[in-house]
Amino acid sequence: MVTTVCGYCGVGCRLEHNTAIPTNKTIHPFEKGMVCAKGSSSLASVDLPSRLRSPSILEDGFKPISWDAAIATIAQKIKAAPPHRIGFYLSGQLLTEDYYVANKLGKGFIGTNNVDTNSRMCMSSAVVAYKKVFGVDYVPVRMDDLQTCDLLILAGANTAEAHVVLNSKIKKEKKRGLKTVVIDPRRTATALQADLHLQIFPGTDIDLLNLVAQRLIRDEKFDKTFTQEHTQGFESYRANMDKLDPSVLHKRCGIDTQQFETFIQLLYANENIISAWTMGLNQSVQGVDKNLALINLHLLTGKINRAGNGPFSLTGQPNAMGGREVGGLSSMLAVHLDFDEDAIKKVSAFWHTEKIDPTPGMTAFEMIEAAERGELDLLIISHTDPVYHLPNRHRVEKALKKVPFIVEINAYDDSETKPFAHLRLPAAPWGEKEGTQTNLDRTVTRQEKLRAPSFDAKPDWQIFAMIGERLGFSEAFHYRSAAEVFEEFKTMTKLSQDGHLDIYKLDPSTLQEEPYVWGKDLFSDHRYHTPTGRANFFFVENNGLSEQTAPDYPFILLTGRIRDQWHSGTKTAHVDKLHKHKPLSFVEINTDDAAALGVADGGDVIIKTRRGSLTLKAKVTDTIQQKVLFIPVTERKLNYLTNDLLDPMSKEPDFNHSAATLSKA
Ligand code: SF4
Repeated sequence: MVTTVCGYCGVGCRLEHNTAIPTNKTIHPFEKGMVCAKGSSSLASVDLPSRLRSPSILEDGFKPISWDAAIATIAQKIKAAPPHRIGFYLSGQLLTEDYYVANKLGKGFIGTNNVDTNSRMCMSSAVVAYKKVFGVDYVPVRMDDLQTCDLLILAGANTAEAHVVLNSKIKKEKKRGLKTVVIDPRRTATALQADLHLQIFPGTDIDLLNLVAQRLIRDEKFDKTFTQEHTQGFESYRANMDKLDPSVLHKRCGIDTQQFETFIQLLYANENIISAWTMGLNQSVQGVDKNLALINLHLLTGKINRAGNGPFSLTGQPNAMGGREVGGLSSMLAVHLDFDEDAIKKVSAFWHTEKIDPTPGMTAFEMIEAAERGELDLLIISHTDPVYHLPNRHRVEKALKKVPFIVEINAYDDSETKPFAHLRLPAAPWGEKEGTQTNLDRTVTRQEKLRAPSFDAKPDWQIFAMIGERLGFSEAFHYRSAAEVFEEFKTMTKLSQDGHLDIYKLDPSTLQEEPYVWGKDLFSDHRYHTPTGRANFFFVENNGLSEQTAPDYPFILLTGRIRDQWHSGTKTAHVDKLHKHKPLSFVEINTDDAAALGVADGGDVIIKTRRGSLTLKAKVTDTIQQKVLFIPVTERKLNYLTNDLLDPMSKEPDFNHSAATLSKA
């Protein structure tokens, strides 16, 4: 029996695997036995025939190449390119050790800060918002808090489909008396189980949240002591809130006064309140502002940093949080440090390097823009599929064609990025590598190797270390195991501001038995890591920056996950038992809209945006509002439609708001 952790989502269930008779069950984070279909099918993904088997290089088609020659080629390309024209694109599915070595190589030794991750696409808005409010990137809620929570507000989060085991826990707590409110333009499976569903118009979350804030202030239901003693900027926030016209906000978000009143009374009647969110807030041209609007409510009520309360960003990928800890976003250097003089000095001394550039690097889509201008010479992609998941795919494809050399490190062969790669390296997937990952509530767990890597695959950390050694940095990259890498990372966390990222206290020998939670009780005394020690209020408004509908594009297209499937379906779409809930590809359209257009359920329709078009099967339903469409992310061509507007602070794309039109095929 091996105890490991699921590699699919941010809940981070610990699994017991019997490798002799392939079975598994969860033993964490909740009681034994809870496991979702993705987690229980983990083993099946390791043996898929679509595994990438050996290194290959593009020479009149992909030709086999030895590891040694492949690494030598990459080293030569790195040496030939100016550092600012080199990019790394990492993944929330990498282990912390993989992230650490890639980040050290790029930022510490090659001298490029263009080391970004696909987590940029899902939770960078939450990172920026937490940092603005608390001074550091810190999720102040744990899943256990649900046990003492009275009211859970889920905003733009469909836990019933995307965080299934967490959702089972929510359902269990509902039997105890937990009330749930769902804010979502779709009547999702999560909304169906809620006490109240606020079906707002797409893109109006800030309007609704500001309405709530305004009402709390007007009813004097805010926590005066908390706002006075532990926050900053309240008076200006209050003055701005006072200027908003509630009738305008009501009209924009489409919530009638009775429903709003029910929501307000739930807020007043319940002592302990958690709000949780995912892509519905984050993936927006105002993603940071949407996060701030929600966090403001917790500052206003003082329902934060005490059991059963707080603003809870739910990460989608298994190790998105670990990537943040390491510094795998181009906007941070390492261990939650930015690019200020003091941080660079400390990190340079730790890594024994003088190569760190003081300018933050390019984010994911900024690298695409650089490629478009012919300013990116080398792109190293690890464990992710940017051609599939970046917005405005026609633009992405055109840009990537201009990059002279693209390295794709991947465990599976059937990526959408493959046609753009020049060198492909087989990475070890879940089950064939070991290391650590951090789930959505700061819990560090160990992923165990169930068997040795198949074929010619290697763990990503080892591939990056080989590149480092080949570049001549032998001492800095001579790791013999993932454990050695972790030890170094662990020590480095002491450099974090006031040591708040206290992974250095972790004893790896006990991690198998007991997961480790970093930052326990941080801020329990309400001393925040801002210069004043107070949490910051930021007044935000809905600026209507998303793509506007027009007579020829009258619909708003939303995107999201569906149950039992993972991203493009590279792993899950090939496992038969995961297909029982929904097909992988469809477009949801409202019943009245379908009738007006003569569209039948299951009929072929063409969805068009200003960037591209797709033909899909229509799913006619009342769960979606009129003039709104939904396509799941398992549709691999979805991003030919989406727009590439970015949040100006987090650089996260506005995946959930593209103007579209639909017609019968
Ligand atoms: Fe894995 Fe997430 Fe399912 Fe848990 S809820 S078993 S972590 S996919």
